[in-house]
Amino acid sequence: MRILCKKRTLFKNLLVNAKFNIYLCGNNFIMKKIELAATRIRNSKYLSCFTGAGISVESGIPVFRGDDGVYAKYDHNLLEIRTYRRNTSESWKAVKDIFYNRFENAKPNTAHKILAEWQNRDLLKYIITQNIDNLHFEAGSSSVIEYHGNKEYFICFDCSSKFSNKEIVLVDTPPICPTCGGLLKPDFVFFGEPIPSDAARLAHEIAKKSDVHIIIGTTGEVQPASYIPFYAKKANAFIIEINPQKSRFTDSISDVFIEMKASEALIEINRIL
Ligand SMILES: [Zn+2]
Repeated sequence: MRILCKKRTLFKNLLVNAKFNIYLCGNNFIMKKIELAATRIRNSKYLSCFTGAGISVESGIPVFRGDDGVYAKYDHNLLEIRTYRRNTSESWKAVKDIFYNRFENAKPNTAHKILAEWQNRDLLKYIITQNIDNLHFEAGSSSVIEYHGNKEYFICFDCSSKFSNKEIVLVDTPPICPTCGGLLKPDFVFFGEPIPSDAARLAHEIAKKSDVHIIIGTTGEVQPASYIPFYAKKANAFIIEINPQKSRFTDSISDVFIEMKASEALIEINRIL
């Protein structure tokens, strides 16, 4: 009986040690990846970055997709460009709630700020973002390709005048052009709209020039944006992926996958850069 108890204690201790070792190995493994990413970034000649909703979650921007996402609460059709033109009142209510009311208090977080610092040091050449939240600019970045546009601007369907958010008072009725009285549309890509040709062309060019490309906070589900890292890979860029979970990129093109939140990973990389 005593021998059995001793054996059990020994076995229990072994289990605790094994868990501890696995934990240490896991941490070491992540640190190795962070060191590798930092080395590649430091030695890069043309570093670019591709960001998605995940980088802005820590700024309080709601998650869009998935069962708990904002889109699940609205009829998808309300965000279609055709609906915005034909049933503007209903569509505008959804657009205003999702992209203006819920974004109101969002501020750039540490991840946005570290990328801006890298741009100021001329280490990071371009950020290509799928986000329309303006947070890369607010953090101090200047070279940003907004693949899906920016919610800070409005454009008139009739006279094509462009206005900043500050010039337009947003109310529950759809926004009207101060110049001609036509209907204004937020200057971001609605469902059913093409990607602005300049943004698409520039993003492609930057991806092809890159020797190191960082994917941050995106699962790669939105096309054609998700092709961008593939263009970089095709041009032999080293692909660093920072995501809290695996994505469509992880097993296909990522050379190093850092399974962390954006700001946590960038703080660690920046610390040893
Ligand atoms: Zn107008």
